[in-house]
Amino acid sequence: MKEFDNGLEKKWDYDLDAPVDSDISVEKLKGFLKPSDTLIFYGGEPLVMVEKMKEIMDNVNCRFMIQTNGLLLDKLPREYLMKLDKMLVSIDGTRNRDVENKGAVHYDKVVSNLGGIRAKGYSGEIVARMVVSEKPDIYEQVMAILKLELFDSVHWQIDAGFYKNDFDFKEFSEFVGEYNKSIDRLLDWWFGEIGKGEIIKMYPFVGILNRVKGWDSETRLPCGAGFANFTINTNGDLSACPIMNSVRNMYCGSMDSGVVGKKVISGCEECGYRKICGGRCLYWREAKLWPKEGDDLICSTIKYLIDGIRSRAEEIEGAGEKAIELSHSARIFGEKGSLEETGAMAENSKRKRKLRKEDFEFEKYFGPEIIP
Ligand code: SF4
Repeated sequence: MKEFDNGLEKKWDYDLDAPVDSDISVEKLKGFLKPSDTLIFYGGEPLVMVEKMKEIMDNVNCRFMIQTNGLLLDKLPREYLMKLDKMLVSIDGTRNRDVENKGAVHYDKVVSNLGGIRAKGYSGEIVARMVVSEKPDIYEQVMAILKLELFDSVHWQIDAGFYKNDFDFKEFSEFVGEYNKSIDRLLDWWFGEIGKGEIIKMYPFVGILNRVKGWDSETRLPCGAGFANFTINTNGDLSACPIMNSVRNMYCGSMDSGVVGKKVISGCEECGYRKICGGRCLYWREAKLWPKEGDDLICSTIKYLIDGIRSRAEEIEGAGEKAIELSHSARIFGEKGSLEETGAMAENSKRKRKLRKEDFEFEKYFGPEIIP
């Protein structure tokens, strides 16, 4: 409960007049959204407002997605379920880990609900949205999720820098050391799978690889907050990101005015990793809840991850002992693709291979922040 004293109320002008529940009419949404737009239901937990969701899906012509804790997915009738192109569902890894983080009922109910919607024929993408909190064993947790065979893809975020009173230099330094080791294991496994022809859709890896390779030339926040992705607040004002909802000085327009005053990340100007990282998180950068030494530790995980992806990609495409053998075809996100040979022979007779952009394509800006 110490977090109530985090100082943000002095820094930010909270819009206390904004209603608790959205009072945006369906008519207004209809006028605001174009068929090419995507509306992502978000909360709190959006499925507690299932009747409003149904009304919106019945009347608004656009794509729909949802970010949910998954507990009420069984309450959504099949015809509406089928209207959701993708969903991000919270789950943190093994049953034990999820119980530790989210309480006793979440894991079993989510696993049962996801099995239920797959049985109903839901074939849209289901992203496992993980939080990495005190324990750094990301490798084991991701493996546990993949074993469930309920998710198409995985994204995680480190719970660091989002609260003022949870920073401890020694503890977090140890976390970073262990997390980076676990990331190495996960990267070795991921690139090993690529070598066997399987590309597993892990958003941090796929998103960073796209930037490292120059396939994604965008250099701003990979989540799209404030330029490609906006939050409609309960009163119709727009925020760059849902975490900043109802913060007046972070508004960037409204449903009436459209987008005005885009938000730009600050604090990363001198960083050599900026074009890949984009600044990690606008809320983290603006709220500044951790001291600099804590933020530097967070940045060290980002740099380690980017370096790890870059060096392994270079090994695949480069010559020499470390070159990773790739099979002739790769199964990309469930479909057959292929990895292109350069035709040149490597020094040690291993064939050089080239990672192909089209095999690592992914939809941007719908929820996964990319940078953990
Ligand atoms: S690594 Fe840190 S300083 Fe560098 S761009 Fe990312 S968030 Fe900014």
